[in-house]
Amino acid sequence: MCSIAYSFLVFTECKGESSQYSDSVYKELSRLNGRINQMSKVAIVSRLKRLKLSSEGNCDVLKTRLKNYYKKQKLKSANLPTAVKLLPYYVIVDFEATCEGVNVPDYPHEIIEFPAVLVSTEQQQVVDHFQAYCRPLVNPTLSGFCMELTGISQEEVDAADTFPQVLKDFEAWLAKHKLGSKHKFTIVTDGPWDMGRFMYGQCKISGLAYPQFAKKWINVRKTFSNFYKCRRFSLKLMLEHLELNFEGRPHCGLDDARNIARVLLRLMSDGASIQVNEHIHLLALEEKSKVSNKPEGVVVPVTASNPYTIAVKVQQGCSQDAHSTILSHSDEDSTSLM
Ligand code: AMP
Ligand code: MG
Repeated sequence: MCSIAYSFLVFTECKGESSQYSDSVYKELSRLNGRINQMSKVAIVSRLKRLKLSSEGNCDVLKTRLKNYYKKQKLKSANLPTAVKLLPYYVIVDFEATCEGVNVPDYPHEIIEFPAVLVSTEQQQVVDHFQAYCRPLVNPTLSGFCMELTGISQEEVDAADTFPQVLKDFEAWLAKHKLGSKHKFTIVTDGPWDMGRFMYGQCKISGLAYPQFAKKWINVRKTFSNFYKCRRFSLKLMLEHLELNFEGRPHCGLDDARNIARVLLRLMSDGASIQVNEHIHLLALEEKSKVSNKPEGVVVPVTASNPYTIAVKVQQGCSQDAHSTILSHSDEDSTSLM
């Protein structure tokens, strides 16, 4: 278990939505949902099969799938909007970074693998990927633990470009797909750390301005737990919930990103709205940096021994966890990273 602990100050917004639900179709849906809740797994599986829908997943997943199927049907026949909010493209990013088995407080994680997977909503599939290793400068020699964890070798990072060039290459890849110009897209990550910690820390180390595209993103764990009405799970547990096996090598950034894409595609086909639910609070981070009095270029860690928090502002609709929360190192979100 890693000694690093993470704290995140989270704010939420909740918009009133009651008036639009007065149509009788919603009462009918509510009764239908009640009946689905009473159904056994066997009965739900047989109904899903009859409807030619996937029957993969645990009971929570199957119930949500069936409820959403009927919701879509009923709203369509009542000429009401289905209210599913999707973007045309999603770019899933899962950084790998330098680390030690036991990370000392203030450990300056540097990004060593920058992978991205492009999902098209229209095609409902992965349509391209980007992958580059990065040569770390603060700790150029990878620890044995890091190589073992990520499968990345010393030779691979020695032969790689440094982060600023890799970031340019990634931005050129986005531009090649007209992402951010002709096509709207959002970054998707598993948890808040990829952007809130690794991207932020790496930009500090490299003396780069924090990139615009990374200022807001979709934390798929939140989308997943809100949609399937379950706890926040790690990638491994989200896959288990969907009765899917991890494909590839865990902690290989590209394989992690591909598996996050599988979770995202499942959410999409089950009818989830997939929208930005976190953004980085750069001003708060800058303030924390000043207070901690660390030299320029050193990541301000968020550890149990350092009470400073990374502020991540969360925007979401009125959902089961729409409340203000302080996530500490003991929260599932934080501990499951390490
Ligand atoms: P992941 O996306 O889970 O592969 O993790 C991203 C990065 O977090 C890794 O490249 C490591 O730098 C760090 N990390 C993940 N798990 C651990 C762990 N058990 N101990 C130390 N660092 C870790
Ligand atoms: Mg990873």
